Amino acid sequence: MTPTRNLSGAMDGLWTYLWKEPDDPVADGVKRSGKETETTSTGEVSIVFSTGEVLELSFTRLEELVELAESRHLRIAEVMIMREQAESGTSAGEILARMADQFAVMEEAARRGVSSPLPSRGGLIGGEAHQLWEAIASRPTLLGPVAFRAMAYAMGVSVVNAAMGRIVATPTAGAAGILPGVLVALLDTGQFTREAMTEALLTAAALGLVIANSASIAGASGGCQAEVGSATAMTAGTVVELYGGSPRQVVDAVGLALTNSLGLVCDPVAGLVEVPCLYRNGLHAVTALAAAECALAGVRQVIPPDEVVGAMRDIGNQLPLALRETGIGGLAGTPTGRRLRRQILGEDDHGSREGTGSPQIS
Ligand code: SF4
Repeated sequence: MTPTRNLSGAMDGLWTYLWKEPDDPVADGVKRSGKETETTSTGEVSIVFSTGEVLELSFTRLEELVELAESRHLRIAEVMIMREQAESGTSAGEILARMADQFAVMEEAARRGVSSPLPSRGGLIGGEAHQLWEAIASRPTLLGPVAFRAMAYAMGVSVVNAAMGRIVATPTAGAAGILPGVLVALLDTGQFTREAMTEALLTAAALGLVIANSASIAGASGGCQAEVGSATAMTAGTVVELYGGSPRQVVDAVGLALTNSLGLVCDPVAGLVEVPCLYRNGLHAVTALAAAECALAGVRQVIPPDEVVGAMRDIGNQLPLALRETGIGGLAGTPTGRRLRRQILGEDDHGSREGTGSPQIS
């Protein structure tokens, strides 16, 4: 085994994990600076090597992603960066630098969110992540330190979002806490570098791309399963890859995490991305870790991951409008939810009527 040449140049060391057999055509081709790339009108992406070999980098299903990665002995993060290079014409170094910037914003939001209470725009939330952070220091916790911190950081990002602070939508603002929460908690263990976290974002991006194209990542169209569920699945798969799991185990984690989110409705109180979004981010960060543990242990969902994504799409289509980010049904429609809506928005009680809410983009 020999290492490939560093792809990025500007970020020496970041891609040194790219160990390939010397005669691996993919590794060999990617090393060449003279490669051509093409994007067809149907959105198919491929790299044409100077050897004449074409590497198809399009994937619309998780199974295709696994086949692509396994057939070339690539990690999903590697597939994604090659696809991104081919599609955008941007160098690996630029892509990774952009990802590093995104991770810096995520980490800042997670740490800021737990450091002190932050009043939210709607006034429904603010100090929860800080409360959790103080609990870590003051008493033995039921959860282990990684899961507890992941929960606290995930809520921290939600609090920062609700306070109009800077976050990265992963995949949306409403579900922006789960991926950073888990990654920053893992960073705190000292087992991973920031560069590893930067790479991990590519894994998450590949998984999110499939879910977005096959189902939805928007609460307004697919319910909270599409936002928090997708974020949980992306995070679970990403953790598996960080811990050396195979591409198959990565998508198994996606299937398991999504399974545990199916049917989750979008019911923000007063139409604000505060409640229940905050709690769901925190608790689903723990779910993501649990799904990753299951997949790494070899546990598989009986229903294939792509079919789970399909089920999420179908359930989303079947959800009534009141449960799709209108702020009318579910928790928003409880007596307390309706009272808070009147208090905060000064609006009449919409009761259970559909289509009359004032949704906030999450
Ligand atoms: S409840 Fe709705 S707004 Fe809140 S995180 Fe879920 S999908 Fe987003």
